[in-house]
Amino acid sequence: MESTPSRPQARLDPYVDRYAARTAGMTASEIRALFAVASRPEVVSLAGGMPNISGLPLDVVGHAISDLVAQQGPVAMQYGSGQGVPELREQITEVMRLEGIEAHPDDVVVTVGSQQAVDLVTRVFCDPGDVVICEAPSYVGALGVFKAYQCEVVHAEMDADGLNPEALRQAIAATKAAGKRIKFLYTIPNFHNPAGVTLTAARRPEILDICHREDILILEDNPYGLLGFEGEPMRALRADAAEGVIYLGSFSKTFAPGFRVGWALAPHTVREKLVLAQESATLCPPQFSQMAVSAYLSHHDWQGQIKQFREMYRERRDAMVDALTDQMPASCRWNVPDGGFYVWLTLPPGVDAKNMLPRAVTARVAYVPGTAFYADGFGSSAMRLSFCYPTPERIREGVRRLAGVVEAELEL
Ligand code: PMP
Repeated sequence: MESTPSRPQARLDPYVDRYAARTAGMTASEIRALFAVASRPEVVSLAGGMPNISGLPLDVVGHAISDLVAQQGPVAMQYGSGQGVPELREQITEVMRLEGIEAHPDDVVVTVGSQQAVDLVTRVFCDPGDVVICEAPSYVGALGVFKAYQCEVVHAEMDADGLNPEALRQAIAATKAAGKRIKFLYTIPNFHNPAGVTLTAARRPEILDICHREDILILEDNPYGLLGFEGEPMRALRADAAEGVIYLGSFSKTFAPGFRVGWALAPHTVREKLVLAQESATLCPPQFSQMAVSAYLSHHDWQGQIKQFREMYRERRDAMVDALTDQMPASCRWNVPDGGFYVWLTLPPGVDAKNMLPRAVTARVAYVPGTAFYADGFGSSAMRLSFCYPTPERIREGVRRLAGVVEAELEL
């Protein structure tokens, strides 16, 4: 038997002088680096944002997929449209109706997760040096895309009610005064990743109004909108502004991330550009995945499934918030999210979340330091805690360990 050749030792990269300038912005995210340690079984990971799909009816999904192969295999395994499967796009308009959006399937582009939608929108709109306004903090995966396209990120502060309109006005004014071009506002209005907050209904028209007056496009990223713990889903920004908003959605959290199916809903002319960008990126989004998601939506009570997910996540949110209240030093601050996966915790003055992380990992608990969510090095006194994946017992144990680490830090 032939032996596998051993991997060469890590060494200086001989290709370093040949890479495109944009690769300078492609650095491993702090989250990726954390995955290796956080996935050790003895570590309670409050770091990753993986949805907990253990409640999915695998038999139903399995039947839907075997029927798909038996009945439509040759189509499902073939190349398809660059815009996505028409039947799925129709179903996506029904999903978006839950948030007040009336849209035509022709304005939907299916993407490889909403992550690819962020990439395609940036590819279509941004030249190097263009500014994207993002909340402070913002989704690490989107910041990575903006960096890779050599955009400049300008952060605008949030508070308990979501993006602060005055902070947005100031960010726009300062950027314009510096002679820079703003290409869009990237915002996560619901159950923010990582901040956990939701833009209030009262603020939504104001944000729309500011962007309309300043002629700034909005990229509304909404993977968590249907995962609210109380009441009805919030009305999407896109529901009240068909022209000024590109809306992104995903089945990663409401069904399963492994299919990698998300979408963009865009004004008609933008949609055409996104399809061209999609064709050059992938020829077409994966036909098989799209048809499997479509079959699941047709044959399963997907809204009932989302309700179950909501209940499971609410129980985990409660476990985390109760444990934080019981265990954490009084000088720590955190919010109580109404949905989604994340709590944002601010440490007492003088405690640095990034410096503290190795000691937390030694104490067998992991989180993501706040700096991962800023393009400008801020966030060192904060951390993102995810309650989506571990069981309530593990969450309580993780918070207990974390509280011990913070206490020890305060005594240093
Ligand atoms: N946007 C936000 C705010 C997210 O949290 C995520 C996933 N963590 C994504 C986009 C990408 O999700 P996906 O590509 O799985 O749809």
